Parts: sequence; structure tokens; C-alpha cells
Amino acid sequence: MKRITALLLVLILALILCGCGHEHVWRQATATEPKTCTICGTTEGEALGYAWGEVSYEWAEDNSSITATRVSGTDPSIVETETATVTAEVTKEPTFEEPGETTYTVSFENPDFPSQTRTVADIPPRSYEWGEISFVWNEDGSLTATRVSGADPSVSETETATVTA
Ligand SMILES: [Zn+2]
Repeated sequence: MKRITALLLVLILALILCGCGHEHVWRQATATEPKTCTICGTTEGEALGYAWGEVSYEWAEDNSSITATRVSGTDPSIVETETATVTAEVTKEPTFEEPGETTYTVSFENPDFPSQTRTVADIPPRSYEWGEISFVWNEDGSLTATRVSGADPSVSETETATVTA
């Protein structure tokens, strides 16, 4: 009789340990975990995966940094975000007529966030810094006005006017 009792105890213990004989209480699958029994830990099927949505990028107003964000389609409370510093490089020098351009580039540590590039015409055109106007009377009685750029002496502006008496 003692032997049978002992055997029964071992059997019950084994039953408890393996978790057999209960009705599984399922916790629904999540992005990272499959459907799992909360009592015995038995799993069924596979994790749902993140099903990431599209990456959105938000540039700082001064283009100094950029934040990449993506949201899990499985669970919108799972958000992945990374802010990276932007490298700025002048890719086009300004002229007197046209503004210069800066190209802003950023690389993220997260390999799923592709690097971003943006080119902005944000360097104002050069100032002529005009010098004083010089006047020269011509033999035919007309007057020539000339001014030279202080920023670039090879640039000058000239106009000849007929003088009416
Ligand atoms: Zn179970």
C-alpha cells in the first residue's frame, strides 16, 4: 500500500511538473513572442513579428539633426526612433547672382534607417560691396560712370550717358 501511495505521488508530481492535464490559458501572440500558455509556458505558432511601417524622417529646423521613426504594425505602442547628427557640406559656392547650396547628410546606426541627404540653397548670394562711383567725361561730351566690386575687383559696372544741356 505504501508503495502504491508513493508511486501515485510521483505520478501527480510528474503531472504538475509537465503541466499536463490543465486547460491551457493562452496569452495572445505578440510581435516578439508566440501564443503562450500562462500556466505551463507551452507555445503555439510563431511570434507575429514587428511588421514595421514606413520610416518617417523629421529634420530639425536648422538641419542640424534628424529623427527617424517607425511604428510596429503589430503593436502601435512599439516605436523605434533614432536621432542622428547631420553633416553639412557646402556643395555650391554662392555667386553674386545666385545663392550657394549646402548638402546635409546623415547616417543612422539602425541599418533599417537608410541614410538621408538634403540639399538646400541656404547660402545668400555674395555681396558686391560696390566701391565709390567714378565719373569720366568723354570727348563726345558723354559721361561714363563706373563702379568696381570690392569683393571681386574683376567685376565692374559701367554706364555711359549722353548729357543734355
Ligand atoms: Zn498550459
